[in-house]
Amino acid sequence: LFVPTDLQQDAPVALDEAQSKYLFKVMRLNVGDPVRVFNGRHGEWKASVKEILGKTAGMLQVDEQTRRQGVLTDLHLYFAPLKKTRTDFVVEKATELGVEVIQPVITEYTQAERVRTDRLERLTMEAAEQTERLNMPRVQEPLSLIKLMSSLTDHRHVYYCDERGDDEGAAWGGDDNRARPMADVLMGKPPHSAAILIGPEGGFSPQERSMLRKMENVIPVSLGPRILRAETAAVSALTLYQALCGD
Ligand code: SAM
Repeated sequence: LFVPTDLQQDAPVALDEAQSKYLFKVMRLNVGDPVRVFNGRHGEWKASVKEILGKTAGMLQVDEQTRRQGVLTDLHLYFAPLKKTRTDFVVEKATELGVEVIQPVITEYTQAERVRTDRLERLTMEAAEQTERLNMPRVQEPLSLIKLMSSLTDHRHVYYCDERGDDEGAAWGGDDNRARPMADVLMGKPPHSAAILIGPEGGFSPQERSMLRKMENVIPVSLGPRILRAETAAVSALTLYQALCGD
């Protein structure tokens, strides 16, 4: 259970209504039952139910630390927001796949420009609980592609998922302009600061593609010959990165 409070031995933790409902109504816990808690900063602790005040409030008591806060792979996801449920899916899977920063990016063809970061933060909390990671990714406010790319420092490699190549005509006509397969690019690379960049439903515009291709720390990569839905591309690229370079 995520509890946004300091965690230390013998500390009491007050439960809010949603947490109490979950523990006492859904999970049917009783006084003395164990609960694992984390706050995103101090690792994981074993706690136990101290008091049940009806079904909408209660207290835990922190017992002992069970896991220390580890250092995670420094992996960011930059993605153009999609329609609501598709964005939710991307955020949930990115959390499961160990992303540290989720950055919505507004591109020329982005259709869903409104992003409720507070909702997305709640989703990351639920996904972190289910996947047993001890922190949540930071969900940033949306940025335009140009602003984002100009704010990046040299040390981060941006894997730009590119299904076409830098020139639409040439790419459609043959394989010359195709990006290298992501697995080949990553093979043998140690963990490093990285970001994965995924475009919107309509892909990146020709201008954006040629701008990205000219940037030094941007590495175009292919996820295969088929055009994947944006959320499939995000999950595939994150999985590949974690399998080949993750800690
Ligand atoms: N129209 C579909 C949709 O609504 O999801 C396809 C969108 S696809 C153009 C969106 C993004 O997924 C692209 O900009 C690219 O970043 C990534 N992508 C899809 N297929 C890919 C592939 N085979 N290789 C690399 N990136 C890919």
